[in-house]
Amino acid sequence: MTSDTVSTGTGLERARAAYEAVRAQGLKLNMQRGQPADADFDLSNGLLGALGENDTHMDGLDLRNYPGGVAGLPSARALFGAYLDLKPENMIVWNNASLELQGYVLTFALLHGLRGGQPWAGQSPKMIVTVPGYDRHFLLLETLGFELLTVDMQADGPDVDAIERLAAADPSVKGVLFVPTYSNPGGETISAEKARRLTSLKAAAQDFTIFADDAYRVHHLSPDPAAQDRPVNLVALSRDGGFPDRAFVFASTSKVTFAGAGLGFLGSSEDNVKWLSKYLNAQSIGPNKVEQARHVKFLRDYPGGLEGLMAAHAALIEPKFRAVNEVLSEELGTDGTFASWKNPRGGYFISLDTAEPVADRVVALADAVGVSLTPAGATYPGGKDPHNSNIRLAPTRPPVEEVYVAMRAVAACVRLATEEYRARG
Ligand code: PMP
Repeated sequence: MTSDTVSTGTGLERARAAYEAVRAQGLKLNMQRGQPADADFDLSNGLLGALGENDTHMDGLDLRNYPGGVAGLPSARALFGAYLDLKPENMIVWNNASLELQGYVLTFALLHGLRGGQPWAGQSPKMIVTVPGYDRHFLLLETLGFELLTVDMQADGPDVDAIERLAAADPSVKGVLFVPTYSNPGGETISAEKARRLTSLKAAAQDFTIFADDAYRVHHLSPDPAAQDRPVNLVALSRDGGFPDRAFVFASTSKVTFAGAGLGFLGSSEDNVKWLSKYLNAQSIGPNKVEQARHVKFLRDYPGGLEGLMAAHAALIEPKFRAVNEVLSEELGTDGTFASWKNPRGGYFISLDTAEPVADRVVALADAVGVSLTPAGATYPGGKDPHNSNIRLAPTRPPVEEVYVAMRAVAACVRLATEEYRARG
């Protein structure tokens, strides 16, 4: 039974009846894990066998030894350089997690400073983040001792007016961390115009730095370029804007090959690559080059290359995004009475905002009928959404049939929480 089969009574009574009908289904569904589905992983099973017993060398280096230093295997730097639209010299290819690389760069900036400046640790450093945003960014920055300043993520990227004001006012504002393409959770992509302003803005700190977590740079929902957002090149724009060392861009293959066993990498100026290599070299003789060679071989040989693989992911993921939009539109209408949501052209998430301050109630109601959602508030620092309205929906992991069922349940919860709130006056 859906909400529209319950046609008598007040709005609240109808919403309650629809909710009880969902409870009767005895669901056990999860819409909070921003993870690939098994079918996505299966696309990359060839990775497991991509190297044979004779593949001991690549680029003239013996993969089994400590070859080639900390910046990564030359072929991997070239491959992922192309991914970020950068030259191999601008790249460091590391181990499996881009978050780890973000942590290294931030930690080394705290301990040693960037661009010949003082260590950030003694300067009560502040970092700008976009909201709603990614909880692990907040966790990382807070764990390292940064004070967080929030600016809104808008349809065309971060609120650059606000960033300009904050950066101009205070030399302890050391930078901004955000997702430039298909952001988590809203799916927004920064426009070329905003990227230009960000890379050339006048900051009080000479070492103001852009940390761009480009986790979803190639994660379009359609292989048709006309239906894709266009990612920017923040490293090139920083150089053109007169601040050649301003940007670090991070990414990984966590949502391309295997979530926990891919490759994390970054792109920046050659000087920044040297700066980081010096500190990485103090704690490691180098990353796992066998894994790098395996990814190079697998991605090079995949039909259509990386683009072919991402098109195969899109074919699996797009119907799930469509399911979310279809069900929400049917059940809640598209006039914003109950909620509004974004329809991104890529990435891993859909961001829903309730019309009333009831996000926590929606998540609790969903949990009580067996649908697990990202905790309300998770998209804000400290887990506190000042509007209590944002909910991150993650449709990639469950099969598409489950997405339909789960979203009908979520819609019933949104209706009930809204009607309850309005009935209280
Ligand atoms: N950045 C963003 C924006 C993400 O959404 C995720 C995964 N949810 C990650 C980073 C994690 O990346 P990695 O596995 O490379 O650390």
